[in-house]
Amino acid sequence: MGKALIIGAGGVASVVVHKCCQNSDVFENICIASRTKSKCDALKEKLDGGKTKISTAQVDADNVGELVSLIKDYQPDIVINVALPYQDLTIMDACLECKVNYLDTANYEPKNNAKFEYKWQWDYRERFEKVGITALLGSGFDPGVTGVFSAYAQKHYFDEIHYIDILDCNGGDHGYPFATNFNPEINIREVSAKGSYIENGEWVETEPMEIKRVYNFKGVGEKDMYLLHHEELESLALNINGIKRIRFFMTFGQSYLTHLKCLENVGMTSIEPIDYEGKQIIPLQFLKAVLPDPASLGPRTVGKTNIGCIFKGIKDGQEKTYYVYNICDHQECYKEVGSQAISYTTGVPAMIGAMMLMTKKWNKPGVYNIEEFDPDPFMDALNKWGLPWEEDFNPILVD
Ligand code: NDP
Repeated sequence: MGKALIIGAGGVASVVVHKCCQNSDVFENICIASRTKSKCDALKEKLDGGKTKISTAQVDADNVGELVSLIKDYQPDIVINVALPYQDLTIMDACLECKVNYLDTANYEPKNNAKFEYKWQWDYRERFEKVGITALLGSGFDPGVTGVFSAYAQKHYFDEIHYIDILDCNGGDHGYPFATNFNPEINIREVSAKGSYIENGEWVETEPMEIKRVYNFKGVGEKDMYLLHHEELESLALNINGIKRIRFFMTFGQSYLTHLKCLENVGMTSIEPIDYEGKQIIPLQFLKAVLPDPASLGPRTVGKTNIGCIFKGIKDGQEKTYYVYNICDHQECYKEVGSQAISYTTGVPAMIGAMMLMTKKWNKPGVYNIEEFDPDPFMDALNKWGLPWEEDFNPILVD
């Protein structure tokens, strides 16, 4: 059916590439392009020889000119951005210039300020509409599937949704005292920031990890979880009818938190440049260099993830609750695609989102968050492509 240009060759990209190759009717041709071409070549080597034709390229995705010449040369139907959030705007600029659809899994944040919000990307809406192309923002798991779950709950089960709690539980154990499951720099920026949630149309800010709850997750068991700021809160509060409060919780083990606190206390998580032996370095980037590569955690990680959303609202005048979630097993993911479940649960929805645009099941020019599209074909595809979901109409709520 078509061609996809995949930018990035890290943990998530590896899953996207595997899944595109499994879905060769849609992805007849893919090009993997990243800063370090040898990583693209290694992926090609692993998967070459099937129905999907694979090529590779070197690109600096901070450079619009380089991106434009690559896109003009390869002529893809879509650009799948699974590099880092810092590259979102340059890749969107290049897509605009070349009139090609765009997809990502994380919203833009400037390198020198650990603050992510949608305004920069939403600003492209009119320009994308005008040239008749689509940008699908946040097509990972969270954001991504959490938005699809919300649209599905709204479409099928509620007249108004008043409360959403997004619960992201990773019950996996990689055996290291401290490691992150996706890009360490992005991960640590996210979890060391202040927490926040939306209540009655206002953001309420908390200290990092200030709000803790305990929840018993199916497939995993009881875990401590902490309230974090998360990007989909901003778009869901606008796109779902009747929201009074929306929160995001993620589970963390004690060892992770103790190490993070210690690293913070000694300044290793800072993004302020410092002088070191005559060279400017950013402590967090140095820390990334000494931590295990998330892509290497696959063989060592055992256990399951459980990520989903609990909704409370009104249907036909009656109060109603609904919980929809996916349970994913780290070792099963490793057996299938050689990656742990965090990369898997992000890469599968990225492939599905790209498929929605390529097959024109989702077809409207502009810049959209995922919950702004019909959730039904995406929900079907989750079941088909490795992330089946379960429902509970009488869940335990989070206080
Ligand atoms: P990795 O660090 O493993 O991979 C990032 C890749 O991007 C690397 O191959 C890197 O190249 C490449 N890259 C970085 N900068 C550039 C550049 N300037 N030009 C070209 N390529 C570049 O990250 P992950 O795979 O773990 O994460 C990928 C994305 O997925 C991130 O944006 C992350 O925030 C997002 N994510 C989303 C989730 C969700 O549920 N929505 C969950 C988890 C992650 P090099 O090899 O040279 O460093």
